Amino acid sequence: MKVLKFGGTSVGSSKNINKVISILDAYAKESKVVCVVSAVGGITDKLLLAGMQAQSKDNAFKATFQIIKDVHFSIIKELNPDNSSSILNYAEEKLNELESLLNGIFLINEISPKTSDKLVTFGELLSSFIIAETMKNRGLSAYRKNAQELVVTNANFTKAEVDYSVTNANIKDYFSSAKENITILPGFIARSTFGEQTTLGRGGSDFTAAIVAAALHVEQLEIWTDVSGMFTTNPKLVKQARPIETISYQEAMELSHFGAKVLYPPTVQPVLDLNIPIHIKNTMEPEAVGTIISNEFVASNNPVKGISNISNIALLTLQGSGMVGIPGFSKRLFETLSNEKINVILITQASSEHSICLGIEAKDVEIAKTAIDITFENEIALHKIDPIQVETNLSIVALVGDNMKNHQGISGKMFSSLGKNNINIRAIAQGASEKNISIVIEETDVKKALNTLHEVFFESITKQLNVFITGVGNVGERLVEQIKQQKKYLKDNLKINLRVVGLSNSRTMMFNGGGISLKNWKEDLSNGEKASLEGFFENAKSLNLRNSIFVDVTANKDVAGLYEKYLRESIAVVACNKIACSSTFSNYKELKRLSLKYNAPFLFETNVGAGLPIIDTLSNLIASGDKVTSIQAVLSGSLNFVFNNFNDTTKFYDVVKQAAAEGYTEPDPRIDLSGVDVARKILILARESGVTMDLEDIENIPFLSKAGLESNSVDDFYQTLIDDEAHYQSLFASAKAKDCQLKYVAKFDNGKASVSLQEIPKGHPFYNLEGSDNIVMFYTERYSQQPMIIKGAGAGADVTASGLFADIIRLGNN
Ligand code: ADP
Ligand code: ASP
Ligand code: MG
Repeated sequence: MKVLKFGGTSVGSSKNINKVISILDAYAKESKVVCVVSAVGGITDKLLLAGMQAQSKDNAFKATFQIIKDVHFSIIKELNPDNSSSILNYAEEKLNELESLLNGIFLINEISPKTSDKLVTFGELLSSFIIAETMKNRGLSAYRKNAQELVVTNANFTKAEVDYSVTNANIKDYFSSAKENITILPGFIARSTFGEQTTLGRGGSDFTAAIVAAALHVEQLEIWTDVSGMFTTNPKLVKQARPIETISYQEAMELSHFGAKVLYPPTVQPVLDLNIPIHIKNTMEPEAVGTIISNEFVASNNPVKGISNISNIALLTLQGSGMVGIPGFSKRLFETLSNEKINVILITQASSEHSICLGIEAKDVEIAKTAIDITFENEIALHKIDPIQVETNLSIVALVGDNMKNHQGISGKMFSSLGKNNINIRAIAQGASEKNISIVIEETDVKKALNTLHEVFFESITKQLNVFITGVGNVGERLVEQIKQQKKYLKDNLKINLRVVGLSNSRTMMFNGGGISLKNWKEDLSNGEKASLEGFFENAKSLNLRNSIFVDVTANKDVAGLYEKYLRESIAVVACNKIACSSTFSNYKELKRLSLKYNAPFLFETNVGAGLPIIDTLSNLIASGDKVTSIQAVLSGSLNFVFNNFNDTTKFYDVVKQAAAEGYTEPDPRIDLSGVDVARKILILARESGVTMDLEDIENIPFLSKAGLESNSVDDFYQTLIDDEAHYQSLFASAKAKDCQLKYVAKFDNGKASVSLQEIPKGHPFYNLEGSDNIVMFYTERYSQQPMIIKGAGAGADVTASGLFADIIRLGNN
């Protein structure tokens, strides 16, 4: 004898019922088969909805009823195109009964648990009949036996408890003489000792199948559903979830108790003592191996077997100084909830006994609160305890594994990975058996939490980075192209799954939580929604993805002003925009503090020297305990270009114009030529060396002519370059006379910084600096004689983009 159960989706359409019939047909060739079926998918919900509508005098129940009717009629006709009349007659009769019941509920304006149970039985009664009769029509030896004649329960409506002695005897007795090869049983529904209709709880068809399997002592129970087994976590929320091949009864029970809907929790009980394995199979993919739940121990190097979640949780906290050391509070609390038939899912109590915290289903919260406040009325009046505190919109997430007790550090890993992603944990419970660590978090964080934990415990090899890029101009565009090109390499070689999830320029923006396809990103972006900085932030926040990174490729002050908000959401910030780091010292410090506090890195390597590893090198020196004594640097690619090309055969104006045309200067060349840009860079290096400094503290000795310094517009400024050619030629002549080169130099020495044009003699490391190159010399306590020198291209879109890229990858390795 075989026992199989098919769930709602498996019998949810004529197409799927045909699959079920062919599976049963094949099985029946080998042995007799008992097949437990659910209601057609979604019908139990619809029946309950119609009931609720009718009881609240809402005529919509009629439309709901009509849908229920139509669904069944079309399945019957599709399955039996030539001979559907007898099945239709039965269905018609049942549906008339249902309609009368709904009219009754409407009239009396009330639905009791008992009536509710009566109402939902129609689902399984109809589906089981339709399937059995269709099989008969096709010449198979099948019979529908009403499980209500076998499964006997108490009268605890909506979740009745089984009387095993009567039920087992009934089942054995019936099947000892059942003639047909295939018996179809409606799952979920039962009858009380007094003959009332009862049910075994939502999802209870699994349980019916287990009861039958145990009563008949079969070798194995098969649960056929719409996924290929019990997964490492909820496959609807985590794409990377995968089926678990083997799992113990205990683990399966924990996972299902904590929300893995694929198995109704009580299902394990009847088969556990008899050691009957449960095999979970996929009706849509019968060849997939599925999951075996049994007592067999299979060694695995992962102590965590699965992660599950329950939504709609409320947290109740009872606290007050009057509770300390006085026995009996917990007893009264739990008794109160038990009297109200409220299920407690999670309990934590601090060792101070000052408070007890309980997780219950949100639907029970009103009744629970009222009952508890009545129980403790006196203590509350005497201020010994506070009225019960209620928090809602919460979820439980549980890590499960028999073997977790033998491994240290699992909870540490769990909490730190969630912490890094700004997921606040409201309560924690770990049983002494250590098979389960449960936490309570905000409902809105569940998807992120499951994905984070799944990545840490099941895919630790790959890390997903979710990147939001603002400012896809020259540099930004190169960055996106580099990401597009390197995506596969990063995955294969660095185990980093780098996804762009948000993109924006000044006109439009677009998002895709699943990762933007970069194939035609420019065109897609131009069709995106209207850009807004706040809107971009709000999207990044509400997508709530793990390892989120905001990348600022603008030179915009308002964008820099938003870093704080990103960091507070634990979204890392990577910027080539210098404004934040060269703003007031207090703002710079505050961003650093937020970065630490919210565990969100703030990286800005490209603020100085484009892609050159200057800031990273500096922070490594400082981290290892070295101290910077002085810095000398040429940090402006544009000024270096200008002075490398300016001489007594060229004109200063022409050279600056050329630098602008080749993209070396800012759109406003005064920012470069006035030395402000270089001042900002040396400021950032000084700050990163540990010095408190502001832009005003930097001595800026200008080389521009007076008129140039005072010009009011870019055009005016260019005119002064023409007018004051003699001034610039004199600078060149003076240097030439001394056999020197002109270089724009930034210095930091003895806590003081300056920027100025310098005459560099032959033999100095700056003398031969070419093109738009940058050079930095760090003198430190350890590099006191010979400086540490970093030199190379310090401007240009490609190198800046690769500097940003390097910061992003740094976060992947973090
Ligand atoms: P049936 O109607 O066949 O009884 P259910 O809907 O009750 O099916 O259960 C199957 C569903 O359980 C899956 O479609 C999946 O969405 C959900 N589920 C939640 N957690 C898990 C998990 N850990 N493994 C597999 N499925 C899960
Ligand atoms: N039809 C019932 C429900 O939806 C029982 C089941 O499908 O297991 O809860
Ligand atoms: Mg189910």
